[in-house]
Amino acid sequence: MKLEAQIDALERLAAIDAELGVLEEQLSKDRTVFDGKKSHLVELEGRLGTSETSVKEMERTRGEIIQELRQMSVQIDKSREKLSRVRSEREANAVTRELEELRKLYRDREIEIEKLTGLADQAKGEIETTRAQRDELSAEVGDNEDAVTSRLGAAAELVAGKQAERAAVVNELPVVLYRRYEMVRKRRGTAIAFTVEGTCSACNIMLPPMFFQTLKRQEELSQCPSCNRILYFRRNNGESVTVSDAQDTPSGGP
Ligand SMILES: [Zn+2]
Repeated sequence: MKLEAQIDALERLAAIDAELGVLEEQLSKDRTVFDGKKSHLVELEGRLGTSETSVKEMERTRGEIIQELRQMSVQIDKSREKLSRVRSEREANAVTRELEELRKLYRDREIEIEKLTGLADQAKGEIETTRAQRDELSAEVGDNEDAVTSRLGAAAELVAGKQAERAAVVNELPVVLYRRYEMVRKRRGTAIAFTVEGTCSACNIMLPPMFFQTLKRQEELSQCPSCNRILYFRRNNGESVTVSDAQDTPSGGP
């Protein structure tokens, strides 16, 4: 494969890789945003479920305590009645102590109920807020799902098309050259650079004059001594040396 053809293939490959980079970045950004919304929705559902369970538990406990209070009032009534029938002061003292004990327990239970009611009301308020958020997000995701799915599908197709185009260009290149291209691309983001008047187009370093003269003769591809990108010479008009150029002006100049 002639040098000019190699440069031409490398340039096409670099152009495809640049497009692929933009496409893939956009695709992954879109996916991330959409997946983020979906997982936030799942999280909201989870939080709702937990809050609802805990409200139910609080209400069950509250019901149990109310039941206890009823039993206690029956006991209090019995003690009161006992107090009206006592025959000695000692007995009266004992029943009064029992009554006081019962009343204290009763009050403690009442405070517990108040606390539980407050907590349950707070949790219900939070459930309302979370439910509103969930409904809003759910509508948004539902509305967008089809549109986003088809947009992502189209973008993925575009990427697949570009990748096929890329594979065809890769096939044109000598294996060793492609390996070098990939190695530099993975490290630097882009893999090729050119020089017109002695500086590297990617890292701007001034090339050693002898090295530049060798490049100018276009005998072989080199690598920039600073950034390692595959380096080639380009004519002043900014266009790369193409096969037809090479036929008009064989290497070595006109
Ligand atoms: Zn360079």
